[in-house]
Amino acid sequence: MGTIKEIKFKMLSPQMIQKLSVMEVTTSEVYDVDAYPIDGGVMDPRMGVIDPGMRCKTCGEKLGECPGHFGHIELARPVLNILFLKEIKTLLTYSCKCGAILAKKEDIAKKPLKISSLPPMKVCPECGEKYEKIKLEKPSSFYRGKTAITALEVREQFEKISDSDANLLGIIGGRPEWMVLTILMVPSVTTRPSITLENGDRSEDDLTHKLVDVVRINKRFADNLEIGAPDFIIEDLWELLQYHVSTYFNNEIASIPPARHRSGRSLKTLSQRLKSKDGRFRHNLSGKRVNFSARTVVSPDPNISINEVGVPDRIAKELTIPIKATKLNITELQKYIKNGPNVHPGANYIVKPDGMRKKIIDDTKEMILEEFKPGYILERHMIDGDIVIFNRQPSLHRMSIMAHTVKVMPHKTFRINLCVCKPYNADFDGDEMNLHFPQTAEARAEAKELMLVQENIRSPRFGGPIIGCDQDYISGSYLITKKDTVFSKADVAQILASAGVENVELKKDTYTGRELYSFVIPKSINVSYRSSVCEGVDEKDDDYVVIKNGQITQGAVDDKSISPFKGVLLDTIDFECGHAAARLFLDQITRIISEVMARKGFTISVGDLDMDASVDLEIQKHMDSKFKVVEKLIDTFKKGKIDASPGRSQAETVEDLIMIELNNITNDVQKIIKSGAKESGALIMAKTGARGSIQNLAYMSGMVGQEAVRGRRIFRGYKNRTLSHFKKGDLMPLAHGFVRESFKEGIGPLGFFFEAQKGREGIMDSSLKTRVSGYLQRRLVNALQDIVVSEDMKAYDGTGSVVQFTAGEDGIDPSKSDRGTLDRTIHV
Ligand SMILES: [Mg+2]
Ligand SMILES: [Zn+2]
Ligand SMILES: [Zn+2]
Repeated sequence: MGTIKEIKFKMLSPQMIQKLSVMEVTTSEVYDVDAYPIDGGVMDPRMGVIDPGMRCKTCGEKLGECPGHFGHIELARPVLNILFLKEIKTLLTYSCKCGAILAKKEDIAKKPLKISSLPPMKVCPECGEKYEKIKLEKPSSFYRGKTAITALEVREQFEKISDSDANLLGIIGGRPEWMVLTILMVPSVTTRPSITLENGDRSEDDLTHKLVDVVRINKRFADNLEIGAPDFIIEDLWELLQYHVSTYFNNEIASIPPARHRSGRSLKTLSQRLKSKDGRFRHNLSGKRVNFSARTVVSPDPNISINEVGVPDRIAKELTIPIKATKLNITELQKYIKNGPNVHPGANYIVKPDGMRKKIIDDTKEMILEEFKPGYILERHMIDGDIVIFNRQPSLHRMSIMAHTVKVMPHKTFRINLCVCKPYNADFDGDEMNLHFPQTAEARAEAKELMLVQENIRSPRFGGPIIGCDQDYISGSYLITKKDTVFSKADVAQILASAGVENVELKKDTYTGRELYSFVIPKSINVSYRSSVCEGVDEKDDDYVVIKNGQITQGAVDDKSISPFKGVLLDTIDFECGHAAARLFLDQITRIISEVMARKGFTISVGDLDMDASVDLEIQKHMDSKFKVVEKLIDTFKKGKIDASPGRSQAETVEDLIMIELNNITNDVQKIIKSGAKESGALIMAKTGARGSIQNLAYMSGMVGQEAVRGRRIFRGYKNRTLSHFKKGDLMPLAHGFVRESFKEGIGPLGFFFEAQKGREGIMDSSLKTRVSGYLQRRLVNALQDIVVSEDMKAYDGTGSVVQFTAGEDGIDPSKSDRGTLDRTIHV
């Protein structure tokens, strides 16, 4: 096989189009009364066949054999090719009416790509004609000075340019005058097949519609030219022809209203067929449809393993896998045949050694069972334990596609363990996911060894766990392991049983929560670290976690221990005991926590936000005193006595100082709330890192504080003030977006107005950011996709050249490292 070194695109000459064409399209009529394509129309059967049973009038082949043939339209007058507008403008600018070039050839040769930076000569060196500026008026009219240049004149001028001059001006692979069309190529009917609707009506392709427009206008134009119609009619028709030919090439030109269907939908013409996400390249060439896949809504199931996925039985009956019958497995396979396609572990097809496929149905079941023997292939249903590949879009990182083992279940949703929500970025507000069933032994082995969920616990980004417990699992962990939590022997037995922990001997009458928790920690684990609930110094027992030989001797287990990103305990188990142990730990501990939480109950309510009256008083007093500081600052500023910071004006300096004071209020209120809040569900969630933060609590029961837009106080609105409720030039906090109220007591109209401004900024930000980062991601992926880290730890590109002599500059695969390093240090 040869190697393609490069591809060059060239323009087609009118002569070439003529040569390629099998017919001229002369009439805008498409079908006659018998619905037969009219000769000389755009569906003329000489351009190919799209109906089964018909034969091509050019090559005589049937549908599928005939590749289709080009036709052509002779244009009544030339029109510009809209795709070459830029080139036409350059050529008009740098050439004279006589065909001479209006720049020194040496100068152009010096910078062939940046010709526009060269000023054209004022006078033609050949004929002495004065140069006048060439202007392009959108969409496609050119002017020399103030006179319009017709396409015909453009063409005549371009014809005079010599080949070498054209070449110099960047026209490679053709004559410049070919950019002005005199003849239009008509693609074969196989390129634009019509579809027959159920009621027998034909629905034509958008390109066909457009071509009919071109032919109709062209015909009318030619007729008018022949009878010598007045100039203004000719001009109008010429413009109309230009419009139809332009939109035939590209129907999304900025300054042209797109040609539309009767329904209002804009037509999909040549450019639209190729361009963007659902164009030929990205939709049909880079992207492919796949078989053996399924898609449905995901929902949570805390009782299956993180390695598993719950698959609806109706999907399991549809997705099959080919199994070759041998002496050893034939009895098992016969059972599947007996079950047939409708009973679950059944089968849908057999494949004979000669490749013949037979569908298993009730009528054929007996016959198939009889002939089925070793060497045959059975396409059996998906069953428990099969390996599948599971994916949630957008697939932004490696963990967006992981392998799971199947667990066939009733109902219609895919079930996933809550710990894998994070890597997929999934929640259950209607998210859908895709499932793929690998068909070959190699694909299955590869998926199992490399892509299984447990193999992806450690993130290739930062080398720590990305799969772990969050939200209620964290609050639950804390409630179990905080000081003085005790369980009876019976409770412990039931909880462990529900978690599937086996072979434990319960010798004591009561167990602390930490002892219960320790049943699922591997015995070899020795680690100590500060927990999230710890504040400042490790004072209380809950603050510092110590695990000796797999026993928690002190400390409360919170997000610092078992969460994705932070979890030190989870990280240690994965590092020291392996992925399988980490998976088992997660499976078991989550079930223990679920069981305990179901027994104890855990809730939050508005009551959690109640503070003592003294807390509110303290906050109000604090705000008042800080406002006084700000007032003083403003005073000093108005007297002109502020010392400006280096590089900043006095106004900017006072603004900075005010911001610092106001931010201090927020921090101080947070502290007041933290010390004043009573023990509650909301506080536990904030302190353990399960959900929310002290800041959220402060917003709700303390005060909202400064609303910043683009990192600054709010100044937009009326002249010199944000709202008409304030004096002009007022710099005080309340006039620029400071909200004194809390969400619970309710914010006033002014505060609501400022809050809405901040809220809108957030919405705009996130929508713009996703778009920009999505495009950036696409470009990075396209640039890097063929780079491979080889076994010699060098990174190679698609051509085999070395990109990095040590992959990643340190030769470390983060997903196999300890947070990017190779020597174990506990990262606290
Ligand atoms: Mg969602
Ligand atoms: Zn043909
Ligand atoms: Zn000239």
